[in-house]
Amino acid sequence: MNSNMDNQQHQEARQRAVALGRSQDPAALTELVQLLKMPSADIRRLAASAIGKLSGFGADGAKAVEALAPVALHDPHPQTRQYALKALKTYGAYAEAWLGKLDDLAARPNHKDYIPVAAAAAARTIREAVQHREQQKERVCLKCGKHVAYDEFERSMRLFQRIYCDKCFDETCVKRRNWETGVEDKKNIRTVDGTLVQSDGEKKDCRLAGACRDRLSL
Ligand SMILES: [Zn+2]
Repeated sequence: MNSNMDNQQHQEARQRAVALGRSQDPAALTELVQLLKMPSADIRRLAASAIGKLSGFGADGAKAVEALAPVALHDPHPQTRQYALKALKTYGAYAEAWLGKLDDLAARPNHKDYIPVAAAAAARTIREAVQHREQQKERVCLKCGKHVAYDEFERSMRLFQRIYCDKCFDETCVKRRNWETGVEDKKNIRTVDGTLVQSDGEKKDCRLAGACRDRLSL
């Protein structure tokens, strides 16, 4: 510190960051975002930690992540980055857009081992939160409008790239199978030696028919 005045301001800002983190008041985020920009690495570290503590009390996730992510990735002070990574983790799915950068950081060797470790832990938790959010989402069948559970949704998207409930999924499979069988009957080509072959296009369709068969035991 250059003078007693600076030292006093530094101590006040430090205490303020700690107090705001303990306040359980989501509105304290605004002031903490400002403290996160202070020239003192010590204050930035405490502000990052405090922002993490407010995540459970309804602090604005998008705003918190916007402030924390650049610190987590680029702060010149390694410990400040570590605290920002830990804080970022507490905001879960709000940090989804940063997953790629966190993966890069986790994979990159660092002279401070705890940085890649903290980045990997953050990425893991954020991924789990994103998956949980996807599982909780309300989805309806495009055909019948019925609620679609997550496993139904996943299977249907994999095969048809559309949201169908299991019943409509099965019906669509059967329809497809019948259509393919019909097409195959009409389009089989007799070769010169008398054997029947299918065109390439029909062979590709067999992939879909096979996946339907796995489910329907046809
Ligand atoms: Zn349906």
